[in-house]
Amino acid sequence: MDVDNVEYSTFTGWIDPPTDVRPALDGDLTCDVAVIGGGMGGMATALRLAERGQDVVLLEEKFCGYGASSRSAGQIAGAPGGDLRLLSLFSPKKMPGMVRIAENSARFVEELIETHDIDCDYEANGMVFGAVSFGQMLRVRTQAWIIRRAGGHGKLGTSAELGIPGAFVGGMREGVGGMLNPGKLCRGVRRALLSSSARVFEQTKVTDVRRTGGKAVLATPHGEVRANKVVLATNAYAGEWDITPERLSVPMWIIEAETAPIAPERIAALGWSSRSGVVTQHNIMTNYRLTARNTIVFGVRRLERGQSFPLPEKTADPGLVAELAEAFATTFPSLADVAVERAWGGWIAITSSWLSIAGQIGDNVYYSLACNGHGLAQAPYIGSLIADLIVDGTRPEALDDVWVEKPKFPPFMMMSPLGLRTVWAVDRFNDLFNGSRRRGLRSAARVR
Ligand SMILES: Cc1cc2nc3c(=O)[nH]c(=O)nc-3n(C[C@H](O)[C@H](O)[C@H](O)COP(=O)(O)OP(=O)(O)OC[C@H]3O[C@@H](n4cnc5c(N)ncnc54)[C@H](O)[C@@H]3O)c2cc1C
Repeated sequence: MDVDNVEYSTFTGWIDPPTDVRPALDGDLTCDVAVIGGGMGGMATALRLAERGQDVVLLEEKFCGYGASSRSAGQIAGAPGGDLRLLSLFSPKKMPGMVRIAENSARFVEELIETHDIDCDYEANGMVFGAVSFGQMLRVRTQAWIIRRAGGHGKLGTSAELGIPGAFVGGMREGVGGMLNPGKLCRGVRRALLSSSARVFEQTKVTDVRRTGGKAVLATPHGEVRANKVVLATNAYAGEWDITPERLSVPMWIIEAETAPIAPERIAALGWSSRSGVVTQHNIMTNYRLTARNTIVFGVRRLERGQSFPLPEKTADPGLVAELAEAFATTFPSLADVAVERAWGGWIAITSSWLSIAGQIGDNVYYSLACNGHGLAQAPYIGSLIADLIVDGTRPEALDDVWVEKPKFPPFMMMSPLGLRTVWAVDRFNDLFNGSRRRGLRSAARVR
């Protein structure tokens, strides 16, 4: 694949930044609830609060949709993120809740799209856990069993049965969800938010959060906000204040790349009739998905740990783009001549337990973050539940599944640069082994 003319963006490849960025907060104000962060999580929280009659202010450092939400692969996942075998081993009691949250989150986003008439190219075709080898297929079968045992849905099949490219041995289609253009989704939710009663200040970085005299005081460069309640929806950026619990999450940088447009007949020849997005079953997955503009978006394969706050603005590493392109060409040899047109990346938040979490600090600060790379649907759903908790004064039952009673978090395993490099190396070793085994089987078949 040609990777010589890739456009490297510090935002996303899905859309351009908005042309109507709202002015920064200039002066002091008071409100019932302040939401910090204008990703899908913060916007959905503020929108729900406004719809329920609350006096809500949203503060966003850049513009709503600036963070991971617009940069994601756009897969509305209907199953939890992470290795479900490990999750069910270490947190077996949590599994039914995690599966429930994942499926309900996908339904929540579908409803959000419909209610606000958001044009975001949504295709409800369910994401597929795709196996690139028989070893990975075994893993898929185990994960499907875990999901079903936890009350979830998933359909196992060969690549032909699932309508995914023949490069995959087979896989499992999630029972709910699909794929969309996340940039357009964020833009649509931002439009709904700006038309609501919520007061939205973009270009406004919250530099400190203090609790004093029953109120929370948020400092920004040109004014203070005094709120009765605060929701931290800053995702990977959450570790910036003293108030944040220690080791709440670790920021990780991940990337996506997009091909140049591909002729529809060449896409049809891949046998991708379902158009479902596919994620491989490596320890660190690679995702592949078709877009409405006849391109393929693909990414991840490597995690890079953020070292300190504030998190830097970055572009994708050209070395990793080349590595992803090589894997793409191996997966889709008929498209090896297609160029990579653009690449971008974003910060996600990972928790030590690999579980999505929400909780409370004191009696008036709430947090919801770290859906471990699966937050495009989960962050807004959990945010809307927190909004209900604030308005009703009682915790919705659905929040119990992610609620952390005591905000104490253990140290991270395998999240050091060396640990991440080792996990990457294990994946590459397995690829090599599976590649040579496949080549061996093919030549044995030829000899016979
Ligand atoms: C490359 C990539 C691919 C992904 N693919 C998928 C996918 O296919 N499916 C899926 O479900 N998930 C995916 N994810 C994860 C998903 O995007 C996130 O989990 C989700 O968008 C998190 O939403 P959020 O609102 O919590 O955070 P974000 O969207 O990151 O929003 C946080 C916001 O807070 C703002 N902020 C931070 N600090 C401050 C401050 N001090 N003051 C004011 N504002 C502040 C930021 O500017 C940002 O806009 C992907 C992520 C990336 C990066």
